[in-house]
Amino acid sequence: MTSVRTTTGIGSHHRAAEGTGHRVGQGLTRPPLLPRLNAMNAQPICPLNPPPRLLLFDLDDTLCDYAAARTLRLRRAFAPALDHVPDLDLDRVIEDSITVHPHGTDHFAELLLRHGVVNPAVAEAAADWYRTNLFHGLALFDDAVATLQVLRNSVQGFKRRIGLVTNGPAEVQRAKIELLEVEPLVDFVLVSGEFGAWKPDPAIFAEALRLGGAPAAEAVFVGDSAEHDIAGARAAGIRTIWVNRTGQPWAGGDPPDYEATGLGAVRSLLGAGDNSNLAQPAQGATGGR
Ligand SMILES: [Mg+2]
Repeated sequence: MTSVRTTTGIGSHHRAAEGTGHRVGQGLTRPPLLPRLNAMNAQPICPLNPPPRLLLFDLDDTLCDYAAARTLRLRRAFAPALDHVPDLDLDRVIEDSITVHPHGTDHFAELLLRHGVVNPAVAEAAADWYRTNLFHGLALFDDAVATLQVLRNSVQGFKRRIGLVTNGPAEVQRAKIELLEVEPLVDFVLVSGEFGAWKPDPAIFAEALRLGGAPAAEAVFVGDSAEHDIAGARAAGIRTIWVNRTGQPWAGGDPPDYEATGLGAVRSLLGAGDNSNLAQPAQGATGGR
């Protein structure tokens, strides 16, 4: 399935299609869109020049669907409140909760009270359940395993290393990585809580380059966060692929080098766009969920 998207805010209108990717940004010459690949004529095409030999990936909402899991988890945590306020607008409560930063349960009591749930024990129970079931519903995107496998393999004799660079407390991120069984699929894991610096701090990108044994010019960072991933990697001199599954307009500072609608587009950008060897090819703009 091809998704065509018009986005404003990155200097000029542009299109992005699953299975393709292209360079964006002011002052850059925009190359013609890549021909869409299919099983009959797929050829490795790598528009990143020089081709990166170190691929750095963010975890949450890049390889695993943290946002969907959070929504599920909030729904399960707040659902018992319906017993107390039958006409509670659960969708609205979840929507309001998602806008609160940082994530957590500190706002639960005030939020539920605002929606008419006056019994504080309901908020306490919701918070307890939410904290206890930290990874409820969390899973990798459908094509994440196949993507990491195919990217790690050599393409035309070109060997690449893959690093996972993730923000979060060490205990939480390590437990998540173990649950998702993602560590065997990469060459190294770098967790901000262990290292002591968080994206977008240049120190963590420098450490990723050290662990990956590549200079910035030979690396690429793939992530969904304009601030943490794209701005941070750019500041470290690393090329960037912004994973924008939901078609958001760019709202960060300097734009990413490339935009991808999902992991299928990432594969194409990195010269591994032939989906015929993937167990579960990407399914479109939502990245194959
Ligand atoms: Mg992320």
